[in-house]
Amino acid sequence: MTLNDILSMYPDELTAFVLEIGEEKYRGKQLFKWLHSGAGLDQMSNIPKKMKEKLAEKAVIPSVSIENKLVSSDGTVKYLFRCYDGEYIESVFMRHDYGNTVCVSSQAGCRMGCRFCASTLHGLSRSLFASEMLSQIYTAQNDMGERVSNVVIMGMGEPFDNYNNVIRFIRLLNDENGLNIGCRRISLSTCGLADGIRRFADEGLPVTLSVSLHSPTDEQRNAIMPVNRRYPIATLLSACRDYFERTGRRISFEYALIDGQNNSEKDAETLAALLKSNLPGMAIHVNLIPVNPIKERDFRRGEKIMTEKFVETLEKRGVNATVRRRLGADIDASCGQLRQRKYDDGAGT
Ligand code: SAH
Repeated sequence: MTLNDILSMYPDELTAFVLEIGEEKYRGKQLFKWLHSGAGLDQMSNIPKKMKEKLAEKAVIPSVSIENKLVSSDGTVKYLFRCYDGEYIESVFMRHDYGNTVCVSSQAGCRMGCRFCASTLHGLSRSLFASEMLSQIYTAQNDMGERVSNVVIMGMGEPFDNYNNVIRFIRLLNDENGLNIGCRRISLSTCGLADGIRRFADEGLPVTLSVSLHSPTDEQRNAIMPVNRRYPIATLLSACRDYFERTGRRISFEYALIDGQNNSEKDAETLAALLKSNLPGMAIHVNLIPVNPIKERDFRRGEKIMTEKFVETLEKRGVNATVRRRLGADIDASCGQLRQRKYDDGAGT
């Protein structure tokens, strides 16, 4: 974007910009607060008309708009958002007893190619700006009339494939004049870009890190996650170990249970042995997700009893595991499915 994306600017950058367009310094903070309350220029009541005119000419606020919205019987809301350039992305608003959570997308599409995931079916269109990640939250908040207290970066896209913008997004979320959401209320999920994990360990951001593992062996993981050819399991777990040593933060491993592929008792045993031997003494947790079938692929979830057995086997071997509660099961609330429907209807093709 050639115009100045003011919603992506850090407070000091915004102040510098405000000075550049001939306004006084204190306007920077004022503008920052307005922008991060989710307001548009029209609503900024104490910003003079002349300054707004300059902003309209020299700056952009790349907000997302609601294209479609599905409300689940459990209160979960799924949004299909339209970006300024016509790209579509998805976000999910969830209610928990500890507050409201928004699951944000970090990219339009994805180039990681996980076989079970709808977000990657058409590859990557582009990465999102920090502003577009924030705007997903602000737009959901405005629409729902409720504050968001937790953020998970687990929507469409691979956050470490859009590294700098994602870091900027997290720091802006942390800002006391913005949403002021602390890192402990933010989770980030990666498909396993080991270099990204190492780099992230040095950012000093105590965000909860989730790693999508989904298989206990390279052979199986190669078949469902092409990223494994670049960063095989041993490389990935070594980065996880370094991350833990540097940050002391517990890591969560995501494991989508796919019937007949990775959900047997033997798989659970192999997984427990893998984690125990590669990550000795490390605080870890396994999050089991019965796979959400997408119609483009023939992946199914197994019987409930298989899932229970899987958890039991892990626990017996001293590996903490839970089955993720499925919010929004009736509205296809897994990433990429709404956008995919838009493609099926002829958009983006
Ligand atoms: N790219 C990141 C974050 C996005 S996806 C990552 O891979 O972690 C968030 C989680 O949903 C990941 O664990 C992903 O593997 C999982 N996921 C994607 N499609 C799924 C499906 N159809 N069923 C179950 N989990 C799925």
